[in-house]
Formats: sequence, structure tokens, C-alpha cells
Amino acid sequence: MSDKPESGDKIVKTDEEWRQELDSESYRVLRGKGTERAFTGEYNDLKEQGMYNCAACGEPLFSSDTKYDSGSGWPSFFKPADSGNVSEIADNSHGMNRTEVVCSKCDSHLGHVFPDGPPETGMRYCINSVSLDFEKEE
Ligand code: FE
Repeated sequence: MSDKPESGDKIVKTDEEWRQELDSESYRVLRGKGTERAFTGEYNDLKEQGMYNCAACGEPLFSSDTKYDSGSGWPSFFKPADSGNVSEIADNSHGMNRTEVVCSKCDSHLGHVFPDGPPETGMRYCINSVSLDFEKEE
């Protein structure tokens, strides 16, 4: 895997290591491609300035500058902080054709991206709160 060598090494851990590091809900979503229930995540309504990092590896993923209220029930962003920090993968599970979003550094599941976002990019990165770790801007 050398598509983004400037970002440093990938983080690779065994399933058992992830299971020990993450709480059960984070593990279910991040490593099991789960989804938190709509309108239940701690960052859904958060409007503070800062960076949303990967909850599994700490990589900066989304800036509050790109967060908007999509009404979906999940934190929504119109673009990643750095396009190299997230990867998009075709996801045809559950009888739907969706695009999964994962952390490029640790391959953890973040959410999905849909082409119904605001004018800035037209994209909606619909991300689970438990996949993120908010770092407030001082
Ligand atoms: Fe990560």
C-alpha cells in the first residue's frame, strides 16, 4: 500500500487488539461497519470549532468548518480535512448501492458519502459520532 507514502505508515492491528482498545459500541461501528442510531451520537448537534479525528487512530479527518446540519441524524460534512485521509469504497451491502468512507490510515469504518450535500461540494459525508474524536480548537 503506497498510494499515500507522505502520510506515514498505515496502522495495522489484529481484531483482538482493536477489541481490547475500543469500547464495544466503537468496536462495533469502527471495526464491524456498524451504524449508530440516528440522532443519538454525541457530535450530531455539536457546533464548536475544532477537528474531528479518527476515534481509532487519531488521524485528523473532518474540520468543523465543513460541518453542516443535514437533518440526517448523523454528523455531516461537505468534505474531508484532507482528501488523502479518507478512502471511499463501493458498498453494495444491505441491498443498497452506497459509498463507504473509511480512515485511510487504519481502515476503520467512518460512515458513507452521498451526492446530496450542500453547494460547496455537493457531497454529504455522513459519519458516525463514535467513529470520531473531537479536538476543540483552543
Ligand atoms: Fe483511523
